[in-house]
Amino acid sequence: MSEKESFRCKLVTYDEIVEWTRDLAKKIRACDCKPTVIIGLTRGGWVPARLLCDLLGVKKLYAVKTEHWGVTANPDGKALLTQELNARIDDEEVLLVDDITDTGESMSIAKAHLQDMRPGVLKTAALLHITRSTFVPDFYSVEVPADGWTWFIFPWNRNEDLRTLLPKTLYEEKGEADIQKAFREQFQIDVPLEDIRTTLEDLEAAGTVTRAGEKWTRA
Ligand code: AMP
Repeated sequence: MSEKESFRCKLVTYDEIVEWTRDLAKKIRACDCKPTVIIGLTRGGWVPARLLCDLLGVKKLYAVKTEHWGVTANPDGKALLTQELNARIDDEEVLLVDDITDTGESMSIAKAHLQDMRPGVLKTAALLHITRSTFVPDFYSVEVPADGWTWFIFPWNRNEDLRTLLPKTLYEEKGEADIQKAFREQFQIDVPLEDIRTTLEDLEAAGTVTRAGEKWTRA
């Protein structure tokens, strides 16, 4: 029997994403900011950045990429900028957008990179801000206290996160209903059986789990 890992997760819905993004847009408008360019910090910032373009009437949407949290809830050491901006932003009012600031490293290195490109104004926004972050965005919708640290399973990352979390429930062999129970106990989330089945199929195809009758184990 291997180790039983446990940490708090939350399954985020698209309705919550829309609510948080609208709230962000309201805060940005209230401070008289009129971004002319929005830059999504990928991958997590892409959907919020696109929604903010729509809400704030911004046509220029660009991307930069950082890599940090290689797999769900596991940071890979220092964040790295892996895709630079390939557009001019001199004299533009730029808004850099991400889904969440957790360590704050991604926003920090992306902001430093953009600052070198001499924008007129550079502001930052995140849907969620965990107070332990060393970087505080200019705008955020939800503040998460450091002692309430949670892994947020964003709807655009749901399948990927479930593929990472499910094998952690197989510290001993289990059937589908017991995997569902383990998701509740270990990660505090209610995962529909249908999603558990799809995830098991994906993991079996990848050779990560194996089946014996009704029971599943890590390969
Ligand atoms: P950071 O630690 O602030 O550099 O976070 C980098 C990126 O990792 C974020 O933009 C998210 O996409 C992802 N991430 C970090 N922490 C969390 C978390 N608690 N829940 C969900 N995604 C996270």
